Amino acid sequence: MLTFEEYQQRVIASVRARPAQQRPTADVTPLLGLVTAAPVHSAVALPGFTNSAMDGYAVLAADVQRASEDAPVQLPVAGDIPAGDTRSLQLSPGSCWRIMTGAPLPDGADAVVQVELTDGGTEQVQIRRAVPAGTAVRHRGEDVRPGDEVLAAGTLLQPQHVPVLLSAGAAEISVIPRPRIAVVSTGDELVSAGEPVGHGQVVDSNGPMLGALARECGFEVTAVRRAGDTAEAVRAALTELADGADLIVTSGGVSAGAFEPMKLAFADSDHFEFVKVAMQPGKPQGLGTVAGTPVFALPGNPVSSLVSFLMFVAPAARVLAGRDPEVPTVEAAVAERWTSPPGRQQFARVVFDEDGRMVRPIGGQGSHVLGGLAGSQALAVVPAATTEVEVGETLRVIPLPPREVLRSSAPMLRADARSAGTARHE
Ligand code: AMP
Ligand code: MG
Repeated sequence: MLTFEEYQQRVIASVRARPAQQRPTADVTPLLGLVTAAPVHSAVALPGFTNSAMDGYAVLAADVQRASEDAPVQLPVAGDIPAGDTRSLQLSPGSCWRIMTGAPLPDGADAVVQVELTDGGTEQVQIRRAVPAGTAVRHRGEDVRPGDEVLAAGTLLQPQHVPVLLSAGAAEISVIPRPRIAVVSTGDELVSAGEPVGHGQVVDSNGPMLGALARECGFEVTAVRRAGDTAEAVRAALTELADGADLIVTSGGVSAGAFEPMKLAFADSDHFEFVKVAMQPGKPQGLGTVAGTPVFALPGNPVSSLVSFLMFVAPAARVLAGRDPEVPTVEAAVAERWTSPPGRQQFARVVFDEDGRMVRPIGGQGSHVLGGLAGSQALAVVPAATTEVEVGETLRVIPLPPREVLRSSAPMLRADARSAGTARHE
C-alpha cells in the first residue's frame, strides 16, 4: 500500500508541461487561463504619446503661475483636442488648448489645468489656480519603455493582464496550450443518461462528471466515451483516443473483481501499474501510458472518481498546463465528530456552518452515496493516523466546486477570510 503523498508524487512526476506554442494576441480570449512560456517584452512605449490625465486646458505652467481665485488669469483658447485627435499641434505661449483625458498634449504645453479650476470657457478661459509644470500630464514611456518586460514567463493569463498584453504591441506570445483530456467510463452495467435503465444497469455519471470537472478546471475535453468490460474494448478505446489527448482518464475496472477491464488489459504491461493507496475513498488506482499518452485509471465509484480527479488528475493536468500542481486548501474547525478508517487518509464530504469557519460531515461516507456528494460543500482531509475526528480539531479542507480552487493559484477570497478568521465578504 502506498501513502497518499507517495502516489500523488508519482502521478505528478509522470507528466510534464506541454510544449509551448506561439499564439496571436489579437484573439485574446482563448489565451486566458494559459501560462506564458516566455516573458513578454513591450515593442512600444506606454503611453505611446504624452497626453492629458484630465479634462481641462493644456497650458504653459509659467503662463498661469499668478492665477488665483481672486485674480484669475484669462487665456485665449486655440481650439479643442479630443481623445483620438491625430494632429500634431503646437501651443503658442500666452494661449491654451481645451483638452480631454487621453488626448495628445500639444507641443510646448507642460501642464493641464483641470476644468474644475476654470470657468470652462471655449473662446477665452478664466484659470483660477496656478499649477506646477507636469501637472496632469502623462509622459510618453512613463509606464512602460520599449523593451521592458511586461509579463514574466509563467504568468497565468487573466483579464488584468489583457491591457498591457494588447498595448505592448506583441503580435504573438508563447504559451503552454490547454491540456487535452479524454475521459473513458468502463463498465458493462453503464447506460448513457437518457437511455432506459434496466435492472442491473446504472447511468454513466462518471464520464459526464469527469468531463465537467476537467472543463471547470480550464482543460480541453477531447472525448467522453464508454467502453465495455473487456480488455479489447478498453484497449481499443484508449488507443484511439491517445493520439489527440495529453491525458486519458478512465473510471472503473481497477479493483479486485473478476471482470476489471483495465487490469485485464494492462496488468501485464510494462507501461502500467495498479496500486493500492492508503486513502478513503479512492484506494485502487492505476497509472500508465498507452501509445505514450499518460493514463490515469480511477476507481468507478462516483465519489472515488471525484476525489481521485481532484487529488491526482487536477494536479497532473496543472503540470501539463505549465502550472504548479498544488491543490490549495483552507483550514476549518470540526463542528461534529466523525470516524475515519485507520491507516488511510480520508477525504470526508462536509458542509460549512453558518459563518463558514467550521465543518460537519454530511450524508453517508460510502463512496457510492450520490445524495451526500451533491449536498457537500467541501472535502475535509483527515490524516491517515487519525481515527476519531474530534470537535474543535482543525483540518485542511478543499472547498467545492473546484473552479476557484483549481483555476487560481491563490485560495478563494471567501476561503481566505475563513481561515484568517476575518469577517465574511458576501
Ligand atoms: P468498478 O470500479 O468498475 O468496480 O465500479 C465500482 C462501482 O462504481 C460499481 O457500483 C459501478 O457500477 C460504479 N460505477 C462504475 N463506473 C461508473 C460510472 N461511469 N458511472 C456511475 N457509476 C459507475
Ligand atoms: Mg466496473
